[in-house]
Amino acid sequence: MCPPRPAPPDSRAWLRQAALFLDIDGTLLDLAPTPEGVRVPPALPASLRALTLGLGGALALVSGRPLGDIDRLFPDRFDAAGTHGAEWRLGGSKQGAELPGTADLALVTAMLRDGLNRLPGVRLEHKPLALALHYRAAPQWEVATQALAAQAAQTLGPAYRLQAGKAVVEILPAGAGKGSAIRRFMEHPPYVGRTPVFVGDDLTDEDGFAAVNALGGLSIRVGTGAGSQACYGLPGPAELRDWLVQLVAALP
Ligand SMILES: [Mg+2]
Repeated sequence: MCPPRPAPPDSRAWLRQAALFLDIDGTLLDLAPTPEGVRVPPALPASLRALTLGLGGALALVSGRPLGDIDRLFPDRFDAAGTHGAEWRLGGSKQGAELPGTADLALVTAMLRDGLNRLPGVRLEHKPLALALHYRAAPQWEVATQALAAQAAQTLGPAYRLQAGKAVVEILPAGAGKGSAIRRFMEHPPYVGRTPVFVGDDLTDEDGFAAVNALGGLSIRVGTGAGSQACYGLPGPAELRDWLVQLVAALP
């Protein structure tokens, strides 16, 4: 566990050999009332393209969003781990993640729909290999939504686990997580041998912070987060975007 978080160290010490892993919502992009409502600032894709080029391709988006959703926001088809690592793409081609299929999830969909009839405003999102219950529009149902998700996860058994995030609770394959997604990238060129740098903002990112800490990398949390395992901090998405522009300027 790291003390209160200072700004990331001078990039001259690490940028040349870095592999950059970036969460999307609440990290690169400001949160919106719904996942569909986020806006990509016009200058951001150019920063990401320049960093990808400058780092020899070692840049990946690591998000809870499905890959298809990531590509709608960022049509450059960057390397990415979607659905918290349950899906991933490296060098333009989709890789298998050896996780259970979606058939089991159908078992609990009816149960969840039924439960959600009593929780107006809570939304069920179907992802490849996962289900998410969003309660940002109905925060009064937080506890009831988490209980409903827990019941569904219990029905599915040990192949799945619960993952809480900001105004969302998800039912994910047990083997999916941002930490394992980052470790998987680090085993393959152009990532292998580089220093992983992960930037995230949420509970779902803690697993990624722990992974890069263990690999001798840099963990950076955007926004507040008491008890986070991240060693460095940036105040918000706007400051992260400014920092990325500085990194682009510092590229060799
Ligand atoms: Mg996030």
